[in-house]
Amino acid sequence: MKIGLEIHVQLPTKSKMFCSCPTTDAPAPNTHVCPTCLGMPGSRPVLNREVLVCGIKLAKMLGCTIADEIWFSRKTYFYPDMSKSVQITQYDHPIGTGGVVYLNGKPIRITRIHLEEDPGKTKRTGDMHALVDYNRSGIPLAEIVTEPDLSTPAEARAFLAQLIQDIKHTLDLENGERSIRCDCNISVGKERCEIKNVTGLKNVETALTYEMVRQIKVLKAGGKIERATMNFDESRGVTYGARKKEFEADYGYIDEPDLGIFHIKALADSITIKEAPAKMITRMADQYGIDQKMAKQLVSTSTDLAQFFETVSKQYGTENAIKWVAGPVTAHWKALESRNGGTDEVLAVIGKFASGEINDTECGIEIKCAMTGESAENAQESSAGLETLINEYLDANPKVIEDYGKGNVKAANSVIGYVKKNTGSQYSSSEVVETAKKLIESRL
Ligand SMILES: [Zn+2]
Repeated sequence: MKIGLEIHVQLPTKSKMFCSCPTTDAPAPNTHVCPTCLGMPGSRPVLNREVLVCGIKLAKMLGCTIADEIWFSRKTYFYPDMSKSVQITQYDHPIGTGGVVYLNGKPIRITRIHLEEDPGKTKRTGDMHALVDYNRSGIPLAEIVTEPDLSTPAEARAFLAQLIQDIKHTLDLENGERSIRCDCNISVGKERCEIKNVTGLKNVETALTYEMVRQIKVLKAGGKIERATMNFDESRGVTYGARKKEFEADYGYIDEPDLGIFHIKALADSITIKEAPAKMITRMADQYGIDQKMAKQLVSTSTDLAQFFETVSKQYGTENAIKWVAGPVTAHWKALESRNGGTDEVLAVIGKFASGEINDTECGIEIKCAMTGESAENAQESSAGLETLINEYLDANPKVIEDYGKGNVKAANSVIGYVKKNTGSQYSSSEVVETAKKLIESRL
């Protein structure tokens, strides 16, 4: 089975792609519009430079080759949400080509990334009527196209989740998933079908799974898969057949004469991007000899936490970074973030441990105090309370210790429910698991 994705990412610019209309939520339909984004005769597009900057950042993030010169094309099709009957997009000179992204070590090739404007929105109001809202018309999008390198619906979902995290980090987005739409191509046999406009990780997996089963059934019954474009019904979780797939040439692309050619080499050379989370996970696993899972847990909790791991490793050795940062510092990270706290004090505590000034237990408590703002007395009391509870649970459930000893580290998670039942939300799940692991290990 082969799956390829076409991912539309809304770029976080203040104004639209070719005019100065704002991209913020509009108070009412058709209020953030002007002659350009309505496609009135005589209006002319002017490219927003910020769109190029975002496109270059994403192309770099994907490891694509960035073109020295780019231009735009008009894609011709008639639909009410596209009032000028052409969409400005990129056809034969996209901003980036030929990249690669690694998903748990597996290379997923990126065919291309190009820039285009979003059409408006139509809303059906009855059998015979629909309303059109052009507020979205002209919002800048990047379209990322992958090769059909994904092998299962679950893998497609995992890839998309990783990509969303990378995009959020690279473009400083608050909420990545909301502004991402996906066209999903899937083939079980020779011919592929495309499911249009799926939003959300879960929907992508559901739509692909449904389509996979449908294609297998058709083939098993001796039928033939026709190349087609399908829609996805979110409420029923099914794909339904649509129109025969048109080919790119059917759109009658022509070069966009109003915009001309953009020489972007100097701009591309001047832009550096932050290391994307997916790359950071692979590098940290390599560099510090920790497993992918630990690297992933650090980075996905926060890239700041992962950076703190690197700082501790540099100053006090990787062993201390694993012991303290991957342990209690991770467990209390959310508390530190919610207080807008810094890591200086925590670093000093780990320094005291490294020099032998304080012991294991003291270090654990001082880290907790530094991160949660609790007093030492409270921290001592609450961690003693937590230990008592967990010990009670372990006494009554020796099988947990046995399973953990056999290598099933997830067995420690079973204690969470017991602690929550007795204390409400006093302890975070990660703190409970962290303490449980310590106590189980002391009994092995
Ligand atoms: Zn406008």
